[in-house]
Amino acid sequence: MTITGSCECNAVTYSITESSVYVYACHCLNCQTRSGSAFAEHAMVSDSSFTFEGGTTGYKRSENGIEFEEVFCAICHTRIFNRNSLLPDMIFLRAGTLAGSQTLDPIAHIWISRKQAWIALPKGIPVFAESPTPEEFGAAIHAAEQRGQG
Ligand SMILES: [Zn+2]
Ligand SMILES: [Zn+2]
Repeated sequence: MTITGSCECNAVTYSITESSVYVYACHCLNCQTRSGSAFAEHAMVSDSSFTFEGGTTGYKRSENGIEFEEVFCAICHTRIFNRNSLLPDMIFLRAGTLAGSQTLDPIAHIWISRKQAWIALPKGIPVFAESPTPEEFGAAIHAAEQRGQG
């Protein structure tokens, strides 16, 4: 099964050759500001399994010596993914652009120390006050696989 997605105007479309993607919700203040919403849904996808078509525009910034790039549709400015120089082989997909995003079920909630007060998190899903370590995130993926979620 190929996983696909697009921006709002469909000028940018993408496909992912991985068998599943693991979506997590980030409640940090940057994600609230960038999304203009309560939190962001991301999925880490290996760059080699991700292909996109269509014109994009970007926004680059650097922080603590790490280069960050946000990639948008050049027409409708839907945010498609981020990448950074620390993990150059990964892209951080904006999971709300996935086809069938209404069925997403995040496997973890991160940065809940910044979570908006009205949001009640589901029981039994790993939560992290800030960013998890790679090991902690790996354990959250493993737990999701055990639950048959992902
Ligand atoms: Zn677009
Ligand atoms: Zn965030």
